[in-house]
Amino acid sequence: MNLEEKVIALKEHQKKLKAYTHVSSLLFYDASTSMPPGAAQSMSDTMGVISGEIYSLTVNPEFKALLNDLYEQREALDFQTRREVEELHLEQEKMEKVPKEEVVAMEEAENLANHYWEIAKKTNDFSIFAPHLEKLIEMKKRYAGYINPDGDVYDTLMNEYERGMNRAQMDPFFDALRKKLVPLIKSVGEAKQPDTSFLAGPFAIDAQKALSEYVMDVMDIDKDRCILRETEHPFTIEFSKNDVRITTKYVEDDLTSNLYSVVHESGHGMYELSIDDALQFSVLGAGATTAIHESQSRLWENYIGRSLPFCKLIFPKVKELFPDQMEGVSAEDFFRAVNVAKPSLIRTDADELTYALHVMVRYELEKRIFEGDLTVSELPAEWNRLYKEYLGIDVPDDTRGVLQDAHWAGGAFGYFPSYALGTAYSAQIYDALRAEVDVDACCEKGDFAPVRQWLTEKIYRHGMLYTADELIEMTCGKPFDPAYYVDYLEEKFSRLYHL
Ligand SMILES: [Zn+2]
Repeated sequence: MNLEEKVIALKEHQKKLKAYTHVSSLLFYDASTSMPPGAAQSMSDTMGVISGEIYSLTVNPEFKALLNDLYEQREALDFQTRREVEELHLEQEKMEKVPKEEVVAMEEAENLANHYWEIAKKTNDFSIFAPHLEKLIEMKKRYAGYINPDGDVYDTLMNEYERGMNRAQMDPFFDALRKKLVPLIKSVGEAKQPDTSFLAGPFAIDAQKALSEYVMDVMDIDKDRCILRETEHPFTIEFSKNDVRITTKYVEDDLTSNLYSVVHESGHGMYELSIDDALQFSVLGAGATTAIHESQSRLWENYIGRSLPFCKLIFPKVKELFPDQMEGVSAEDFFRAVNVAKPSLIRTDADELTYALHVMVRYELEKRIFEGDLTVSELPAEWNRLYKEYLGIDVPDDTRGVLQDAHWAGGAFGYFPSYALGTAYSAQIYDALRAEVDVDACCEKGDFAPVRQWLTEKIYRHGMLYTADELIEMTCGKPFDPAYYVDYLEEKFSRLYHL
Protein backbone atom coordinates (compact mmCIF):
# COMPACT_ATOMS: atom_id res chain seq x y z
CA MET A 1 0.00 0.00 0.00
CA ASN A 2 1.22 3.49 -0.75
CA LEU A 3 0.65 6.33 1.70
CA GLU A 4 -2.60 7.40 0.09
CA GLU A 5 -4.02 3.86 0.32
CA LYS A 6 -2.92 3.59 3.92
CA VAL A 7 -4.75 6.81 4.76
CA ILE A 8 -7.90 5.44 3.08
CA ALA A 9 -7.58 2.26 5.16
CA LEU A 10 -7.18 4.36 8.30
CA LYS A 11 -10.34 6.36 7.53
CA GLU A 12 -12.30 3.16 6.88
CA HIS A 13 -11.07 1.74 10.14
CA GLN A 14 -12.31 4.80 12.02
CA LYS A 15 -15.70 4.56 10.35
CA LYS A 16 -16.01 0.98 11.57
CA LEU A 17 -14.84 1.96 15.05
CA LYS A 18 -17.46 4.72 15.10
CA ALA A 19 -20.17 2.23 14.16
CA TYR A 20 -19.23 -0.08 17.04
CA THR A 21 -19.09 2.76 19.57
CA HIS A 22 -22.46 3.91 18.19
CA VAL A 23 -23.91 0.49 19.05
CA SER A 24 -22.24 0.43 22.45
CA SER A 25 -23.51 3.93 23.34
CA LEU A 26 -26.98 3.08 22.08
CA LEU A 27 -27.10 0.04 24.37
CA PHE A 28 -25.97 2.16 27.32
CA TYR A 29 -28.64 4.74 26.49
CA ASP A 30 -31.31 2.07 26.22
CA ALA A 31 -30.23 0.51 29.52
CA SER A 32 -30.52 3.94 31.17
CA THR A 33 -33.83 5.02 29.65
CA SER A 34 -36.11 2.15 28.70
CA MET A 35 -34.71 -1.34 29.41
CA PRO A 36 -36.94 -3.55 31.63
CA PRO A 37 -35.17 -4.23 34.95
CA GLY A 38 -35.00 -8.00 34.39
CA ALA A 39 -32.84 -7.50 31.29
CA ALA A 40 -29.81 -6.17 33.21
CA GLN A 41 -27.75 -9.37 33.02
CA SER A 42 -28.35 -10.11 29.33
CA MET A 43 -27.73 -6.46 28.43
CA SER A 44 -24.45 -6.51 30.30
CA ASP A 45 -23.40 -9.73 28.49
CA THR A 46 -24.14 -8.09 25.13
CA MET A 47 -22.24 -4.94 26.06
CA GLY A 48 -19.29 -7.12 27.08
CA VAL A 49 -19.25 -8.75 23.63
CA ILE A 50 -19.40 -5.37 21.86
CA SER A 51 -16.58 -3.92 23.95
CA GLY A 52 -14.54 -7.04 23.11
CA GLU A 53 -15.11 -6.32 19.42
CA ILE A 54 -14.02 -2.69 19.88
CA TYR A 55 -10.90 -3.94 21.65
CA SER A 56 -10.09 -6.34 18.80
CA LEU A 57 -10.53 -3.56 16.25
CA THR A 58 -7.97 -1.41 18.08
CA VAL A 59 -5.56 -4.18 19.13
CA ASN A 60 -4.78 -6.48 16.19
CA PRO A 61 -1.53 -7.11 14.25
CA GLU A 62 -2.83 -5.88 10.91
CA PHE A 63 -4.05 -2.53 12.22
CA LYS A 64 -0.95 -2.18 14.39
CA ALA A 65 1.28 -2.50 11.32
CA LEU A 66 -0.79 0.06 9.41
CA LEU A 67 -0.79 2.48 12.31
CA ASN A 68 2.95 2.12 12.96
CA ASP A 69 3.68 2.86 9.29
CA LEU A 70 1.49 5.93 9.35
CA TYR A 71 2.92 7.06 12.67
CA GLU A 72 6.42 6.97 11.23
CA GLN A 73 5.30 9.00 8.23
CA ARG A 74 3.05 11.35 10.22
CA GLU A 75 4.94 14.51 9.20
CA ALA A 76 3.79 13.88 5.62
CA LEU A 77 0.09 13.77 6.58
CA ASP A 78 -2.46 16.60 6.70
CA PHE A 79 -3.14 18.01 10.18
CA GLN A 80 -6.38 16.10 10.86
CA THR A 81 -4.99 12.75 9.70
CA ARG A 82 -1.80 13.26 11.68
CA ARG A 83 -3.82 13.95 14.84
CA GLU A 84 -5.98 10.87 14.17
CA VAL A 85 -2.87 8.73 13.83
CA GLU A 86 -1.41 10.15 17.06
CA GLU A 87 -4.65 9.58 18.95
CA LEU A 88 -5.17 6.02 17.71
CA HIS A 89 -1.51 5.21 18.30
CA LEU A 90 -1.77 6.33 21.92
CA GLU A 91 -5.00 4.37 22.42
CA GLN A 92 -3.52 1.25 20.83
CA GLU A 93 -0.35 1.44 22.93
CA LYS A 94 -2.54 1.73 26.02
CA MET A 95 -5.08 -0.96 25.17
CA GLU A 96 -2.59 -3.63 24.13
CA LYS A 97 -1.24 -3.60 27.67
CA VAL A 98 -4.68 -4.66 28.99
CA PRO A 99 -5.82 -8.27 28.36
CA LYS A 100 -9.01 -8.49 26.30
CA GLU A 101 -10.76 -10.64 28.97
CA GLU A 102 -10.14 -7.84 31.45
CA VAL A 103 -11.74 -5.23 29.19
CA VAL A 104 -14.80 -7.42 28.59
CA ALA A 105 -15.12 -8.31 32.28
CA MET A 106 -14.85 -4.63 33.26
CA GLU A 107 -17.58 -3.62 30.81
CA GLU A 108 -19.88 -6.36 32.16
CA ALA A 109 -19.11 -5.50 35.79
CA GLU A 110 -19.78 -1.80 35.18
CA ASN A 111 -23.15 -2.43 33.62
CA LEU A 112 -24.19 -4.77 36.39
CA ALA A 113 -22.92 -2.39 39.09
CA ASN A 114 -24.90 0.41 37.49
CA HIS A 115 -28.05 -1.68 37.72
CA TYR A 116 -27.51 -2.51 41.43
CA TRP A 117 -26.57 1.09 42.20
CA GLU A 118 -29.99 2.17 40.87
CA ILE A 119 -31.74 -0.30 43.18
CA ALA A 120 -29.52 0.64 46.14
CA LYS A 121 -30.23 4.34 45.58
CA LYS A 122 -33.98 3.78 45.28
CA THR A 123 -34.10 1.68 48.45
CA ASN A 124 -31.44 3.62 50.39
CA ASP A 125 -29.46 0.44 50.91
CA PHE A 126 -25.72 0.85 50.33
CA SER A 127 -25.11 -2.86 51.05
CA ILE A 128 -26.76 -3.79 47.71
CA PHE A 129 -24.18 -1.74 45.82
CA ALA A 130 -21.12 -2.27 48.06
CA PRO A 131 -19.89 -5.67 46.69
CA HIS A 132 -20.15 -4.37 43.11
CA LEU A 133 -18.26 -1.22 44.04
CA GLU A 134 -15.53 -3.28 45.70
CA LYS A 135 -15.18 -5.39 42.58
CA LEU A 136 -14.95 -2.31 40.33
CA ILE A 137 -12.28 -0.71 42.52
CA GLU A 138 -10.16 -3.87 42.36
CA MET A 139 -10.62 -4.02 38.59
CA LYS A 140 -9.64 -0.37 38.18
CA LYS A 141 -6.53 -0.90 40.29
CA ARG A 142 -5.55 -3.80 38.03
CA TYR A 143 -6.39 -1.76 34.92
CA ALA A 144 -4.18 1.14 36.06
CA GLY A 145 -1.42 -1.38 36.83
CA TYR A 146 -1.54 -2.75 33.29
CA ILE A 147 -1.45 0.68 31.65
CA ASN A 148 1.12 2.29 33.89
CA PRO A 149 2.84 -0.31 36.09
CA ASP A 150 5.16 2.17 37.81
CA GLY A 151 2.71 5.07 37.99
CA ASP A 152 0.32 6.22 40.64
CA VAL A 153 -3.05 4.46 40.32
CA TYR A 154 -5.25 7.51 40.87
CA ASP A 155 -3.20 9.72 38.54
CA THR A 156 -3.52 7.03 35.85
CA LEU A 157 -7.29 6.93 36.31
CA MET A 158 -7.63 10.73 36.16
CA ASN A 159 -5.72 10.63 32.86
CA GLU A 160 -8.56 8.63 31.31
CA TYR A 161 -10.65 11.82 31.43
CA GLU A 162 -8.10 14.62 31.37
CA ARG A 163 -4.82 13.75 29.73
CA GLY A 164 -1.86 14.95 31.75
CA MET A 165 -3.87 15.65 34.89
CA ASN A 166 -2.34 14.50 38.17
CA ARG A 167 -2.56 15.12 41.88
CA ALA A 168 0.50 17.37 41.80
CA GLN A 169 -1.60 19.81 39.71
CA MET A 170 -5.01 19.21 41.24
CA ASP A 171 -4.02 19.44 44.93
CA PRO A 172 -2.85 23.09 44.74
CA PHE A 173 -5.82 23.95 42.49
CA PHE A 174 -8.27 22.62 45.08
CA ASP A 175 -6.29 24.09 48.01
CA ALA A 176 -6.43 27.56 46.48
CA LEU A 177 -10.13 27.16 45.78
CA ARG A 178 -10.90 26.00 49.30
CA LYS A 179 -8.97 28.88 50.87
CA LYS A 180 -11.00 31.44 48.93
CA LEU A 181 -14.37 29.72 48.89
CA VAL A 182 -14.78 28.63 52.50
CA PRO A 183 -14.69 32.19 53.98
CA LEU A 184 -16.83 33.52 51.12
CA ILE A 185 -19.45 30.81 51.71
CA LYS A 186 -19.40 31.68 55.41
CA SER A 187 -20.00 35.41 54.73
CA VAL A 188 -22.79 34.56 52.30
CA GLY A 189 -24.37 32.25 54.88
CA GLU A 190 -24.44 35.06 57.43
CA ALA A 191 -25.94 37.61 54.99
CA LYS A 192 -29.64 38.22 54.37
CA GLN A 193 -31.05 35.40 52.22
CA PRO A 194 -33.32 35.94 49.20
CA ASP A 195 -36.91 34.72 49.18
CA THR A 196 -37.00 31.29 47.51
CA SER A 197 -40.44 30.21 48.75
CA PHE A 198 -41.96 30.45 45.26
CA LEU A 199 -39.51 27.82 43.95
CA ALA A 200 -40.90 25.11 46.24
CA GLY A 201 -43.88 24.24 44.05
CA PRO A 202 -45.58 21.94 43.48
CA PHE A 203 -44.87 22.35 39.77
CA ALA A 204 -46.92 20.09 37.46
CA ILE A 205 -44.61 17.80 35.49
CA ASP A 206 -46.40 18.52 32.19
CA ALA A 207 -45.79 22.24 32.60
CA GLN A 208 -42.14 21.53 33.49
CA LYS A 209 -41.86 19.51 30.28
CA ALA A 210 -43.21 22.48 28.32
CA LEU A 211 -40.56 24.65 29.99
CA SER A 212 -37.81 22.19 28.93
CA GLU A 213 -38.96 22.38 25.30
CA TYR A 214 -39.10 26.18 25.49
CA VAL A 215 -35.56 26.42 26.92
CA MET A 216 -34.18 24.14 24.21
CA ASP A 217 -35.84 26.41 21.64
CA VAL A 218 -34.40 29.53 23.28
CA MET A 219 -30.93 27.97 23.00
CA ASP A 220 -31.82 27.03 19.42
CA ILE A 221 -31.06 23.34 19.91
CA ASP A 222 -31.79 21.51 16.66
CA LYS A 223 -34.53 19.07 17.73
CA ASP A 224 -34.17 17.28 14.43
CA ARG A 225 -30.80 16.02 15.70
CA CYS A 226 -31.24 16.16 19.48
CA ILE A 227 -33.93 14.75 21.76
CA LEU A 228 -34.72 15.02 25.47
CA ARG A 229 -35.69 12.05 27.66
CA GLU A 230 -35.85 11.32 31.40
CA THR A 231 -33.31 9.50 33.59
CA GLU A 232 -32.47 9.30 37.28
CA HIS A 233 -29.21 11.14 36.58
CA PRO A 234 -29.27 13.70 33.72
CA PHE A 235 -26.63 13.17 31.03
CA THR A 236 -25.75 13.80 27.39
CA ILE A 237 -24.69 11.08 24.99
CA GLU A 238 -23.89 11.43 21.30
CA PHE A 239 -23.85 8.76 18.62
CA SER A 240 -22.80 11.22 15.95
CA LYS A 241 -23.13 14.96 15.42
CA ASN A 242 -26.54 14.18 13.93
CA ASP A 243 -27.82 12.17 16.88
CA VAL A 244 -27.41 13.69 20.31
CA ARG A 245 -29.54 12.55 23.27
CA ILE A 246 -29.91 14.61 26.41
CA THR A 247 -31.79 13.64 29.57
CA THR A 248 -33.29 15.39 32.57
CA LYS A 249 -35.09 14.53 35.79
CA TYR A 250 -38.40 16.07 36.86
CA VAL A 251 -38.97 16.80 40.54
CA GLU A 252 -42.41 18.11 41.48
CA ASP A 253 -41.26 20.37 44.31
CA ASP A 254 -38.20 21.78 42.54
CA LEU A 255 -38.43 23.91 39.40
CA THR A 256 -34.75 24.73 39.03
CA SER A 257 -33.50 21.13 39.11
CA ASN A 258 -35.00 20.33 35.70
CA LEU A 259 -34.67 23.86 34.32
CA TYR A 260 -30.91 24.08 34.85
CA SER A 261 -30.34 20.41 33.99
CA VAL A 262 -31.84 21.12 30.57
CA VAL A 263 -29.71 24.25 30.11
CA HIS A 264 -26.62 22.31 31.25
CA GLU A 265 -27.17 19.25 29.07
CA SER A 266 -28.17 21.45 26.11
CA GLY A 267 -24.77 23.12 26.53
CA HIS A 268 -23.10 19.71 26.19
CA GLY A 269 -25.44 18.94 23.29
CA MET A 270 -24.72 22.18 21.43
CA TYR A 271 -21.00 21.33 21.51
CA GLU A 272 -21.55 17.90 19.94
CA LEU A 273 -24.06 19.23 17.40
CA SER A 274 -21.55 21.83 16.19
CA ILE A 275 -18.46 19.70 15.57
CA ASP A 276 -17.09 20.03 12.01
CA ASP A 277 -18.57 17.69 9.38
CA ALA A 278 -15.03 16.67 8.45
CA LEU A 279 -14.73 14.95 11.83
CA GLN A 280 -17.99 12.99 11.59
CA PHE A 281 -16.38 9.58 11.10
CA SER A 282 -13.13 10.44 12.83
CA VAL A 283 -11.98 9.39 16.30
CA LEU A 284 -11.51 13.13 16.85
CA GLY A 285 -15.24 13.81 16.35
CA ALA A 286 -16.02 14.39 20.03
CA GLY A 287 -15.48 16.98 22.75
CA ALA A 288 -11.80 17.75 23.40
CA THR A 289 -11.65 16.49 27.01
CA THR A 290 -14.11 15.87 29.85
CA ALA A 291 -13.26 19.20 31.47
CA ILE A 292 -13.55 21.17 28.22
CA HIS A 293 -16.95 19.52 27.68
CA GLU A 294 -18.01 20.49 31.17
CA SER A 295 -16.81 24.05 30.58
CA GLN A 296 -19.38 24.32 27.81
CA SER A 297 -22.32 23.02 29.84
CA ARG A 298 -21.36 25.21 32.81
CA LEU A 299 -20.96 28.25 30.61
CA TRP A 300 -24.59 27.94 29.54
CA GLU A 301 -25.95 26.80 32.89
CA ASN A 302 -24.29 29.32 35.18
CA TYR A 303 -22.58 32.13 33.34
CA ILE A 304 -25.40 32.72 30.85
CA GLY A 305 -28.35 30.79 32.33
CA ARG A 306 -28.13 32.24 35.83
CA SER A 307 -27.49 35.83 34.66
CA LEU A 308 -30.12 38.52 35.18
CA PRO A 309 -30.62 39.12 31.41
CA PHE A 310 -31.27 35.39 30.81
CA CYS A 311 -33.69 35.24 33.75
CA LYS A 312 -35.51 38.27 32.31
CA LEU A 313 -35.72 36.49 28.95
CA ILE A 314 -37.28 33.26 30.24
CA PHE A 315 -39.32 34.57 33.16
CA PRO A 316 -42.45 35.50 31.13
CA LYS A 317 -42.65 31.83 30.05
CA VAL A 318 -42.13 30.63 33.63
CA LYS A 319 -44.93 32.93 34.75
CA GLU A 320 -47.22 31.78 31.94
CA LEU A 321 -46.68 28.08 32.86
CA PHE A 322 -46.87 28.57 36.64
CA PRO A 323 -49.12 31.61 37.20
CA ASP A 324 -50.13 30.71 40.79
CA GLN A 325 -46.62 29.97 42.07
CA MET A 326 -45.20 33.12 40.39
CA GLU A 327 -47.97 35.48 41.54
CA GLY A 328 -46.33 38.77 42.57
CA VAL A 329 -42.84 37.51 41.69
CA SER A 330 -40.62 39.64 39.41
CA ALA A 331 -37.83 38.54 37.05
CA GLU A 332 -35.34 40.09 39.52
CA ASP A 333 -36.85 38.04 42.38
CA PHE A 334 -36.53 34.94 40.20
CA PHE A 335 -32.89 35.81 39.39
CA ARG A 336 -32.07 36.25 43.10
CA ALA A 337 -33.78 32.98 44.01
CA VAL A 338 -32.06 30.85 41.34
CA ASN A 339 -28.73 32.22 42.56
CA VAL A 340 -29.25 31.43 46.21
CA ALA A 341 -25.99 30.09 47.67
CA LYS A 342 -26.63 27.57 50.37
CA PRO A 343 -24.75 24.40 51.28
CA SER A 344 -26.86 21.47 50.12
CA LEU A 345 -26.80 17.69 49.81
CA ILE A 346 -26.92 17.02 46.08
CA ARG A 347 -24.01 17.94 43.82
CA THR A 348 -26.06 18.25 40.62
CA ASP A 349 -28.44 20.70 42.33
CA ALA A 350 -25.67 22.66 44.06
CA ASP A 351 -25.34 26.39 43.50
CA GLU A 352 -22.34 27.90 41.76
CA LEU A 353 -20.61 28.93 44.95
CA THR A 354 -20.68 25.66 46.90
CA TYR A 355 -20.39 23.34 43.87
CA ALA A 356 -16.61 22.92 43.99
CA LEU A 357 -16.79 21.70 47.61
CA HIS A 358 -19.01 18.79 46.50
CA VAL A 359 -16.30 17.83 44.02
CA MET A 360 -13.59 18.18 46.65
CA VAL A 361 -15.36 15.64 48.90
CA ARG A 362 -15.31 13.10 46.08
CA TYR A 363 -11.72 13.90 45.13
CA GLU A 364 -10.52 13.33 48.71
CA LEU A 365 -12.42 10.04 48.99
CA GLU A 366 -11.23 8.71 45.63
CA LYS A 367 -7.61 9.52 46.44
CA ARG A 368 -7.85 7.64 49.74
CA ILE A 369 -9.65 4.64 48.18
CA PHE A 370 -6.89 4.18 45.61
CA GLU A 371 -4.14 4.83 48.14
CA GLY A 372 -5.64 1.90 50.08
CA ASP A 373 -6.47 4.23 52.92
CA LEU A 374 -10.25 3.83 52.83
CA THR A 375 -12.46 0.75 52.41
CA VAL A 376 -15.86 0.54 50.75
CA SER A 377 -17.55 -0.25 54.06
CA GLU A 378 -16.07 2.95 55.59
CA LEU A 379 -17.16 5.05 52.62
CA PRO A 380 -20.68 6.16 53.69
CA ALA A 381 -19.52 7.40 57.11
CA GLU A 382 -16.51 9.21 55.61
CA TRP A 383 -18.76 10.80 53.00
CA ASN A 384 -21.03 12.11 55.73
CA ARG A 385 -18.10 13.35 57.83
CA LEU A 386 -16.62 15.35 54.92
CA TYR A 387 -19.99 16.88 54.06
CA LYS A 388 -20.17 18.09 57.63
CA GLU A 389 -16.60 19.39 57.55
CA TYR A 390 -16.65 21.10 54.12
CA LEU A 391 -20.29 22.12 53.78
CA GLY A 392 -21.47 22.09 57.37
CA ILE A 393 -24.46 19.86 56.70
CA ASP A 394 -25.76 16.53 57.98
CA VAL A 395 -26.44 13.80 55.43
CA PRO A 396 -29.76 12.14 56.36
CA ASP A 397 -29.42 8.97 54.24
CA ASP A 398 -27.14 7.30 51.69
CA THR A 399 -29.58 7.96 48.84
CA ARG A 400 -28.82 11.66 49.27
CA GLY A 401 -25.24 10.87 50.32
CA VAL A 402 -22.75 8.41 48.95
CA LEU A 403 -25.27 6.84 46.52
CA GLN A 404 -26.31 10.06 44.78
CA ASP A 405 -23.96 9.96 41.76
CA ALA A 406 -23.87 7.37 38.97
CA HIS A 407 -20.13 7.76 38.30
CA TRP A 408 -18.63 5.12 40.57
CA ALA A 409 -21.29 2.63 39.49
CA GLY A 410 -20.10 3.13 35.91
CA GLY A 411 -16.46 2.66 36.93
CA ALA A 412 -15.71 6.37 36.46
CA PHE A 413 -13.09 6.98 39.15
CA GLY A 414 -11.00 10.11 38.66
CA TYR A 415 -13.79 11.76 36.68
CA PHE A 416 -15.03 14.23 39.33
CA PRO A 417 -11.99 16.57 39.32
CA SER A 418 -12.83 17.35 35.67
CA TYR A 419 -16.05 18.99 36.85
CA ALA A 420 -14.23 21.54 38.99
CA LEU A 421 -11.58 22.10 36.34
CA GLY A 422 -14.24 22.51 33.63
CA THR A 423 -16.14 25.02 35.74
CA ALA A 424 -12.91 26.97 36.21
CA TYR A 425 -12.20 26.82 32.44
CA SER A 426 -15.64 28.23 31.72
CA ALA A 427 -14.94 31.37 33.78
CA GLN A 428 -11.94 32.20 31.62
CA ILE A 429 -13.73 31.29 28.37
CA TYR A 430 -16.73 33.40 29.38
CA ASP A 431 -14.43 36.36 30.00
CA ALA A 432 -13.01 35.99 26.46
CA LEU A 433 -16.52 35.55 25.01
CA ARG A 434 -17.80 38.74 26.64
CA ALA A 435 -14.85 40.71 25.30
CA GLU A 436 -16.04 39.97 21.75
CA VAL A 437 -19.78 39.26 21.98
CA ASP A 438 -22.51 41.31 23.71
CA VAL A 439 -24.04 38.37 25.61
CA ASP A 440 -26.51 40.58 27.49
CA ALA A 441 -27.87 41.93 24.20
CA CYS A 442 -28.29 38.33 22.97
CA CYS A 443 -30.39 37.60 26.07
CA GLU A 444 -32.47 40.73 25.52
CA LYS A 445 -33.17 39.74 21.91
CA GLY A 446 -33.53 36.03 22.71
CA ASP A 447 -31.07 35.37 19.90
CA PHE A 448 -27.96 33.40 20.85
CA ALA A 449 -26.63 32.95 17.32
CA PRO A 450 -23.63 35.27 17.97
CA VAL A 451 -22.71 33.30 21.12
CA ARG A 452 -23.05 29.97 19.36
CA GLN A 453 -21.04 31.20 16.35
CA TRP A 454 -18.22 32.41 18.60
CA LEU A 455 -18.11 29.16 20.58
CA THR A 456 -18.29 27.11 17.36
CA GLU A 457 -15.43 29.07 15.84
CA LYS A 458 -13.23 28.89 18.93
CA ILE A 459 -14.09 25.50 20.44
CA TYR A 460 -16.98 23.36 19.16
CA ARG A 461 -15.92 22.78 15.57
CA HIS A 462 -12.45 21.52 16.47
CA GLY A 463 -13.59 18.38 18.29
CA MET A 464 -10.43 16.69 19.61
CA LEU A 465 -8.04 18.31 17.13
CA TYR A 466 -6.43 20.28 19.98
CA THR A 467 -5.58 19.58 23.61
CA ALA A 468 -7.36 21.37 26.45
CA ASP A 469 -4.32 23.62 27.03
CA GLU A 470 -4.11 24.51 23.33
CA LEU A 471 -7.84 25.31 23.15
CA ILE A 472 -7.72 27.59 26.20
CA GLU A 473 -4.69 29.39 24.82
CA MET A 474 -6.27 29.75 21.36
CA THR A 475 -9.61 30.92 22.78
CA CYS A 476 -8.40 33.17 25.59
CA GLY A 477 -5.00 34.28 24.27
CA LYS A 478 -3.29 33.04 27.45
CA PRO A 479 -2.84 29.81 29.42
CA PHE A 480 -5.40 28.53 31.90
CA ASP A 481 -5.65 30.67 35.02
CA PRO A 482 -8.00 29.58 37.86
CA ALA A 483 -8.07 33.17 39.18
CA TYR A 484 -10.84 33.94 36.65
CA TYR A 485 -13.11 31.47 38.43
CA VAL A 486 -12.45 32.70 41.96
CA ASP A 487 -12.70 36.37 40.89
CA TYR A 488 -15.99 35.72 39.11
CA LEU A 489 -17.49 34.01 42.17
CA GLU A 490 -16.27 36.73 44.54
CA GLU A 491 -17.61 39.48 42.32
CA LYS A 492 -20.98 37.86 41.64
CA PHE A 493 -21.79 36.73 45.17
CA SER A 494 -20.47 39.88 46.86
CA ARG A 495 -22.85 41.85 44.68
CA LEU A 496 -25.79 39.47 45.15
CA TYR A 497 -25.38 39.38 48.92
CA HIS A 498 -24.22 43.02 49.37
CA LEU A 499 -21.02 41.92 51.12
ZN1 LIG B 1 -22.04 18.08 32.56
